[in-house]
Amino acid sequence: MSQKQIVSLGGYDFEASIEASEIEQLVKNLADRINMDYDDRNPIFIIVLSGAFIFAADLLREINIKSDITVVKVKSYHGFNSTGEVKILLAADIDLSKRHLVIIEDIVDTAQTLHHFSDYLRQFDPLSIETVCLLSKPDAHQVDIDLKYVGKDIPNDFVIGYGLDYNGQGRNLKHIFTKVD
Ligand code: 5GP
Ligand code: MG
Repeated sequence: MSQKQIVSLGGYDFEASIEASEIEQLVKNLADRINMDYDDRNPIFIIVLSGAFIFAADLLREINIKSDITVVKVKSYHGFNSTGEVKILLAADIDLSKRHLVIIEDIVDTAQTLHHFSDYLRQFDPLSIETVCLLSKPDAHQVDIDLKYVGKDIPNDFVIGYGLDYNGQGRNLKHIFTKVD
């Protein structure tokens, strides 16, 4: 992109920071690794709604091994009202016990959601739990979390596009855009 594209949402400007062509390559690289690592393991991919829906759609079409797919919607509480738990708004509709689970997340920020959701999944006695996320903000992590498959580490800035929203908007943008200060 010769000149960076800018979009305005809710009175804020966002500047294109990861182009669609780069995202496509990141997604392919992640899929290649997963195809190798999970060959013959018949994993269950768990898509965390809503933000991961576009990433998951692209990633899963590059997956060529036998697998199952389910979706969940979770809400985590932290900060002042921390319960140390996630509320499951939509549960997986498949038996997770004795299976290899691969959580598909859009972005890992404080890592609280993933931390609590992984804990929640352990009650089902899975064989393994790993996470694939398109983006991670290492400087924002508040808990130690093992992220095996990360598309790209980014600075601690708010981003939209490619499934990620600002108040419900911007999910349809093809590139990832970073909020301009
Ligand atoms: P956590 O802080 O628990 O790691 O992140 C929880 C969720 O917040 C993420 O799955 C994602 O949906 C949302 N989130 C975190 N960082 C961003 C961001 O920069 N932009 C958008 N749109 N959502 C984010
Ligand atoms: Mg999310």
